[in-house]
Amino acid sequence: MKDDKIFCEGLIENDIEKLLAATKSDLHNHSTKGCRKSWLEERIGRQLAETPDRFDGLEGMQTWFTNEIKPFCRGREGIVLRWEGAFAEAKRNNIQRLSMNFGTAEIDLVGGVDAFVSIVEGFRKTYCAETVFEPELTYASSCDVAEEAGRIDQYLSGGYFKSIDVCGGENIQPFEVFQPLYRKAEKYHLIKRMHVGETGPAEDVMRAVEMLGLDEIHHGIRVAESEKVMRFLADQKIQLNVCPSSNVMLGYARNYKEHPIKLLYEYGVRVTINTDDLLIFDSSIENEYRLLYQAGVLSTNQLDEIRRIGLLMKRS
Ligand SMILES: [Zn+2]
Repeated sequence: MKDDKIFCEGLIENDIEKLLAATKSDLHNHSTKGCRKSWLEERIGRQLAETPDRFDGLEGMQTWFTNEIKPFCRGREGIVLRWEGAFAEAKRNNIQRLSMNFGTAEIDLVGGVDAFVSIVEGFRKTYCAETVFEPELTYASSCDVAEEAGRIDQYLSGGYFKSIDVCGGENIQPFEVFQPLYRKAEKYHLIKRMHVGETGPAEDVMRAVEMLGLDEIHHGIRVAESEKVMRFLADQKIQLNVCPSSNVMLGYARNYKEHPIKLLYEYGVRVTINTDDLLIFDSSIENEYRLLYQAGVLSTNQLDEIRRIGLLMKRS
């Protein structure tokens, strides 16, 4: 009850401290881009480029990140620093359930799974020991699936990862190609997620769910274009992990006021609100709720319900 009250008051009064204090989740968070820009600036002792209002799609975003941010936090040291910042942000924002994704190249770069777990657990214990942390193993949609599926056990056999994801652009390869990875994920009882329905049509989301047995979708906002797919997801209780600022800044939603999350929520599709790439979009989780409220998209009670849904563990 206390959290509900602080959260709703924070929205109504535009009180950032109250919004920060309420317990929240972040379930769609690319770990190496999960820290705040101001935190990173302080740690590297220099100012980074101004965040633009809009990026030219995913490619424009990647180019900006490569040119403006990466040169100042490169390689192993840079990645580890940004991971630390992501956990520092989880503490600042009272994130009680955190799913962060990691690519195999990053894990390999820090010395393999054992070294990776030791680094990440060090930060988790330092910054947010009480947080339910659910690491996600993510693959690029352009990856060599057969090769990756052949070596996935080394990352999963220790039981550290709780979910799987495919990201980095839609329709690069047909959904069925990814079956070997998702079959492995099933063997390890992972939550099965995929970036889909951000740029691709609603029907893709339904096909991906049916083909790969997905439990949740990262983004999926274009589902709002199809009543049939909305009904399917609502019936199947498939959750969409939505990232409003990412959608607006990449041009996949026109603005906050017209963000499809309203339609999805009102149709009964289960949604959560998340950051995606905080370092790039420069909008932390309390701000995502605040922006939607201020744009008149959802009410305090509706946003509070979404906040509480994010905190629920995967139904078994
Ligand atoms: Zn993402």
